[in-house]
Amino acid sequence: MLICPKCKEKLYIEGRSYICPNKHCFDTAKSGYVNLLLANQMNSALPGDNKLMVQARKAFLDKGYYSPLAEKLCETVSRYAFDKCRILDAGCGEGYYTEKVASACPNAEIVGIDISKNAADYAARRTKSVKFAVASVFHLPVADESCDIVTTLFAPYCGEEFLRVLKNGGVMVMVIPSERHLWQLKCAVYDEPYLNEVKDFALDGFELLSRETVTGEITLPCTEDITALFSMTPYYYKTGIEGQQRLSRLETLTTEIGFEVLAYKKKSEFCAINYI
Ligand SMILES: [Zn+2]
Repeated sequence: MLICPKCKEKLYIEGRSYICPNKHCFDTAKSGYVNLLLANQMNSALPGDNKLMVQARKAFLDKGYYSPLAEKLCETVSRYAFDKCRILDAGCGEGYYTEKVASACPNAEIVGIDISKNAADYAARRTKSVKFAVASVFHLPVADESCDIVTTLFAPYCGEEFLRVLKNGGVMVMVIPSERHLWQLKCAVYDEPYLNEVKDFALDGFELLSRETVTGEITLPCTEDITALFSMTPYYYKTGIEGQQRLSRLETLTTEIGFEVLAYKKKSEFCAINYI
């Protein structure tokens, strides 16, 4: 599935390196991920989540707060997976969900991609049954029409790239937050909280196969978990000191959670064009 980010030829594994026929060579890090992000594809020196954010996210997810979502995700992916199918997790973060999918689909070939080196490093430590690479979802180092399934959870969406890498008839499983996801967390931070905007589910080039909603309530028993959850949200960047201070004074928090799990099929009339 992986291709050279420089010349787009297929990459082969040789020892601890990925090499293309034109001899472009990418070494794997100690933990096992490979960095395929070219300097001109970075928008900063260290793109993506930093180490503290990755650690907070990992600690939070490993406590199982979002396990109902992981279960629904695995159920949905398993519906479309088959022996030796190829699955790409685009924007895999520290690999919590990628590992769950790998366990649910033990005979699949799975690649996880994230722009954060720190995230890829943690992901590669988490499981050896998935290949992890550092790259942007807007420049996927993945061959045209090579994937049977693409998963994308709370990650930036790049329809053109996802359509390019998916086989005809391939499936994309997307997870987005529901309207009331983390409502009580937002009420604790903001004077006038707003509901999440849930967009129209129609996407160019895709046909919606299914939409399932996962809802629940979680209780965070300590400030550490509340802060970790908050740092995983987009609100983290938009909230002033006052809101952050309000949050840091909370000792426990019970909040609604809600996710939309959407499965799409790549429309067959959509021809793959080399967008890169
Ligand atoms: Zn090359």
